[in-house]
Amino acid sequence: MGRSLPCIPQSCSACCRETTMPITKSEASRLTRRTGMKLEQFTWSNNGILTLLNNEKTKACVFLLTDSSDQNAEGICSVYDIRPKGCSTYPYVLDKKDQVILDVGCPHKEKFPQPTEEDAMTLLNLEERLMRGE
Ligand code: SF4
Ligand code: SF4
Repeated sequence: MGRSLPCIPQSCSACCRETTMPITKSEASRLTRRTGMKLEQFTWSNNGILTLLNNEKTKACVFLLTDSSDQNAEGICSVYDIRPKGCSTYPYVLDKKDQVILDVGCPHKEKFPQPTEEDAMTLLNLEERLMRGE
């Protein structure tokens, strides 16, 4: 899930469902150490980029505590304190011109502050690390 507001007050977990979130190798290694899960249990390779895996039944990220496949159902991230950077910065994302925007996929995006230059730098750095295969 993204930042604390409005995610928790709205009991939202929409961005953790049918996720396509890419993660860095160091994030994957941290998740392996914390959970004891093997890489293939929580990621798949999207053209060489590690990407969070969805649970077959719930269609949600394997780390989301939920038993529902309803996009509007509640759910809690079981690795919240070490969740990948892309998760913690969402709904801020880069568009095709590398400009930071609020993603249309977030149902409460209008409740977030407008993204800052710092958000843009964070996302650009993350993108570079992913492209370098780090
Ligand atoms: S979809 Fe938006 S409001 Fe919902 S948990 Fe994610 S960032 Fe928060
Ligand atoms: S790691 Fe946590 S915050 Fe990120 S998609 Fe999975 S459940 Fe959501």
